[in-house]
Parts: sequence; structure tokens; C-alpha cells
Amino acid sequence: MNTATETRPFEAEVTQVLRLVTHSLYSHKEIFLRELVSNASDACDKLRFEAIGKPELLGDDAELHIDVEFDKEAGTVTVRDNGIGMSREEIVANLGSIASSGTRRFLESLSGEQQADARLIGQFGVGFYSAFVVADKVTVLSRRAGAVDNEGVRWESDGQGEYSLAAEEIAARGTSVILHLKEDEKEFLDNWKLRDLIRKYSDHVAFPIRMKKQQDGKPTGEWETVNDASALWAKPKSEISDDDYKAFYKSLGHDFNDPLAWSHNRVEGSQRFTTLLYLPAQPPFDLLMGARDERKGVKLYIKRVFIMDAAEELLPNYLRFVRGVVDADDLPLNVSREILQHNRQIERIKASCVKRVLDLIEKLAASEPEKFETFRKFFGNTLKEGIVEDPSNRERIAKLLRFASTRDEGGEQKVSLDDYVARMQPGQEAIWYVTADSYKAAAGSPQLEAFKAKGIEVLLMFDRVDEWIMGQFGEYEGKTFRNVAKGELPLDEADKKKQEEVAKEAEPLVAKLKELLGDRVSEVKVSARLTDSPSCLALGDYDLAPHLARLLREAGQEVPESKATLEINPAHPLVKRVESEADDARAKDLALLLLEQAEITAGAALPDPAAFVQRMNRLLGGS
Ligand code: ADP
Ligand code: MG
Repeated sequence: MNTATETRPFEAEVTQVLRLVTHSLYSHKEIFLRELVSNASDACDKLRFEAIGKPELLGDDAELHIDVEFDKEAGTVTVRDNGIGMSREEIVANLGSIASSGTRRFLESLSGEQQADARLIGQFGVGFYSAFVVADKVTVLSRRAGAVDNEGVRWESDGQGEYSLAAEEIAARGTSVILHLKEDEKEFLDNWKLRDLIRKYSDHVAFPIRMKKQQDGKPTGEWETVNDASALWAKPKSEISDDDYKAFYKSLGHDFNDPLAWSHNRVEGSQRFTTLLYLPAQPPFDLLMGARDERKGVKLYIKRVFIMDAAEELLPNYLRFVRGVVDADDLPLNVSREILQHNRQIERIKASCVKRVLDLIEKLAASEPEKFETFRKFFGNTLKEGIVEDPSNRERIAKLLRFASTRDEGGEQKVSLDDYVARMQPGQEAIWYVTADSYKAAAGSPQLEAFKAKGIEVLLMFDRVDEWIMGQFGEYEGKTFRNVAKGELPLDEADKKKQEEVAKEAEPLVAKLKELLGDRVSEVKVSARLTDSPSCLALGDYDLAPHLARLLREAGQEVPESKATLEINPAHPLVKRVESEADDARAKDLALLLLEQAEITAGAALPDPAAFVQRMNRLLGGS
């Protein structure tokens, strides 16, 4: 055995996390205990899982538990487990570097502003490094289950950029984390304080957390279990308080804020399972990037044995903000991820999870408006993806969506499709919407003018996914969705007649504009959409919205060029000026301005901004 002590630097990211954690967690410093206990519990879970195939790993030490001890004289608090333990390589990988690419991207997202970052750290789960909030030196002694000959490793650090590693003989399997408390953190060297913290934060860790019995202020040799040590989700609901549910949520280790709501259910019958699912009160840090990789947050247990994080198998993408636990009675313990992905029982459990989550959100929508608003604000756009991803629940999801509308000012998203449908005008057949890249751009779309004049409400959409989702929505309660900027407007007989007359009269003007604009447009038409503005763009049913085409191009994607149809309002003075302008050059400037302002309000990129400015200046200067 190599007995030399070796010193190594932390990875730069670790130093960054350490600094952040110690700075931002000061007011929550007691959570170090929860984090260390949670790691000890994970280590016991992992061993129990590995031992399914290799029972010899448990040896004669099969009762998994977590011990918490303190030593007043030495000034130390120790958290010890007889779980899986770590080899030298694992210690280096787990405690000296940041392995998860999710965490790396989280770090990249930090602003450097302490307050903002402190809020973020709570969303990310602080883990092992929280030990350094209260300790100026941390010693970890660990021996991997199945390691030979008492082979263990000692890891030690003051959290200042380096750690040391040495081989050490360790008699028992598992990990001890020894905190050498800072001078002003000695309050944790207290029997009652530690017991309180364990009960407060870790009561429902499913393994016994033990402390030594005390007599006359001194520890005896006898251990006693301090926590409840039973799986919370396995208890009857009537025995679980709201505080229990909240504490358990935090012990899952993704968030140290209270959850927004939860749903706890036991399913009996041909297939038996329990689900305990939570909605967070703020977005977990991986919400945005987690769509495609490393989705986490729903733990799968089989008969109380932790199997793996199976968020991807148990919940669809559009519910990726949900956290919790699923415990199935009827799956084999040796199930693998590959098996999970094609398992009928898992399919059924997944469908049940989706149903429970939608039930829960519906309940908030019906009776807890403030919580529902919080939910909508953070997760509404994610939920919306379900319209496309989960057609079987489309109606239910659709009912939960909220939009801004031309009926209200200010862009608050609070109109449901049911509200909209109930207010539809007699004879109105479609649900009208407009998409843009901001509320202002949507609300200011010239295409809305005719709708406003007729008192027809239009939903204003300004999220990137809207265009894609609305394109696939199809119908809601028999009403089709229609984009106000696309296709022909349905006109009643009187309007149609008037429209035809105006168009007839404007034929020479339209011909003139077509000639002036040449191949910049595919067509010029008299608009039925405009009352106040001189011009707007109209799109074919399958055309990409101009603002979206611009965003995609800016993101480096190939977008096929498509020429828009320019619609004009012949009654507008600017349009009349084109008609009466005898000077060809000036007429062309005016015509191009009509097109360019339509492009700007549609959020398109101007092909040549400098030429636009020169043109405008020429016209304003009257030259
Ligand atoms: P997380 O628990 O979210 O993975 P932590 O910072 O809490 O992050 O822990 C980092 C890693 O260190 C864990 O994933 C685990 O691999 C390892 N680890 C920490 N504590 C223990 C322990 N008591 N036993 C075994 N491994 C541990
Ligand atoms: Mg942890």
C-alpha cells in the first residue's frame, strides 16, 4: 500500500463552488448536516442496490445506518455511514472535481453578483462542500465496499484550493466525514442541537440515523436512533404533516426552498405503486438545459430499495420540473435502465404520474390562484410543450394554459382558452392569435387592427415555442386556431363586397407598387386587416413567422428565403402619396418604406438598414 501523502489542487470549478457556497449559505449554515446525511443515505442506497447482485458486499455488516457523533474536546462533528464507500479514484473524482456537466453549465450561468448567485445556489443543491461553511478542515475516511485488506483512503482539505490524499488502513466499510469546526461554530458540539437538526431535516431518511445516548453530559457507549427512519411515502397520508412533506422535499436534495404543492398517492390493484410528486416553487437550475440531457429529480424505488434516478423514464419532458419519488412493488429489483425504457408497467406508472401532476396543477388553477400564478410564471412555457409532446392529454394541458390577450393591457398572461371561447363573437369560428418576440411587438401588430375594430379578441403570444406549438395545436373544443397574420380573413357578405370594391378601385395602385417593389415581394394586395396602419405583411399558412426566421438565422440556422405578401391600406395618406407621386425615384422610396415598416413591425430583419435610413432621410428632408 502506498502510504505517501499526496497534495493536489482542486479543479477550478470546485474552488468556485466552494467560494459561492461558503459565502451564500452563511444564513443557512445548519444545512451542512442535512447534506452530509443525504450523501450518507445515498451511499447506503447504492450499496443496497449493488448488494442485490453481490450479497457478499454486505458481509457481516448488513444493517445499514448513519452515525452522527461529536467530540467537544477535539471540536469535531463526524457523520459516518456503512454504505458503498469510495475508492481513491472515486474520492478524487467526487470530491476534487465537478463531474456533472449540468453543474458545469450551472456555474457558467452565474453572474458573479453575489445576491443573484446566492439565490441560484439554493436551486442547485449544495452538497458535500457545504461542510466548509462550518468547518475549517474536513477529513474524509473511506473504504469502498468490496475493497481488499482494509484498504482505505484519507482525504483532507481546508477548502482553500488544495486537498491531500493518503492511503490508510480502515477497519470497516463506508465513509466518515469529520468536520473540524471553525472557532465560532462550536454551537454544533451539542447533543440536543444535533438531534434537533436531524429530526428537522432528515427525519424521513429511510436509514436509522444514530447518536450516542448521553449521561451527565457525556456520551455512553450505547447508540440510539434519532430519526423516524421510515420511508415517508410509505406511510399513510393521515400520519404525515405538511412540515414532513416539506422537509422530505428538501431532503431529496434539489432545492432548499419549500415546494409549491405535492401529490401523494398509493395505487392498489393489479399493479401496486406509490407516487409522491412535488411542484417546486421556483425553477430548478437544470430546467432550461435539462430538456435534452441528464434529466434528474424523480427517484425510482422498488419495494423501498432505491434503484436509480429515473426522471426520464417516469415523466415526459414537458413535466421535467417535477420532483419526487416513485416506489413500485411489482418490478424486479435487478431491473436495468434499458429494461425500464421498454417496460409496460413503467409505462403505466408514467401515465399515472402524468395524471397526478395534471390533477395537481388543475387543483391549483381551481382553488389556489396565487400558487397557480407562480406555477404559470415559471413552468407555464414548459407545460405548453405538452401540447405537442403528449397529444393524449392535449385537452387537459390546453385548459391549463394562460395567455395575454387584446382584451387586457399590460401583457399579463391570464386568459384561458375557456375564457376566450366563452367570449367569442356570434359567428366567430376561429381562436385568433398573433405571435411575436415580445409582448409589445405582439400587441402592436398592425394585423390586429381589423380585429379590434370588430371587437374580436386575439391572443397575444410572445414565447419562442408558441409558433411551433400553435402550428400543431389543431383545435380546441371544435374551434380551430388561426394566426391573424396568415391566410385570408373570413369576411361576412357585406365586408366582402366592400373589400372587392376597394380592391377593384386600387388595382392601378397595386400594379404600381408591384412594379416599384419588384422581386422584394411575392405579391401586393389590398388588406382586410388594416384600419390605421398603411401596410403589413401577410403570410401563407405554412410560412415561418418573420421574427422567428430572424431568431433562427441569428442562431446560425439555415432558413429558406421566403418572400412575403405586402398588404396595403389604400385609405392611408402614405399609400395615397405613392399613388399620386409623379417622381419615380421618390415613389420607389415611398413604396420601399411601406414594405420596410411592415417588416419591422413583424420582427423581420431589415435586409439593408443603412439604405432604409437614407431613404427615410431623403423623404423627411423632402429632397
Ligand atoms: P451529490 O450528492 O448531489 O452528488 P455532493 O456534493 O453531495 O453531490 O456529493 C458529491 C459526490 O461525492 C456524491 O455524488 C458521491 O458520489 C460522493 N459522496 C459524498 N459523500 C459520500 C459518502 N458518504 N459515501 C459515498 N460517496 C459519497
Ligand atoms: Mg449530496
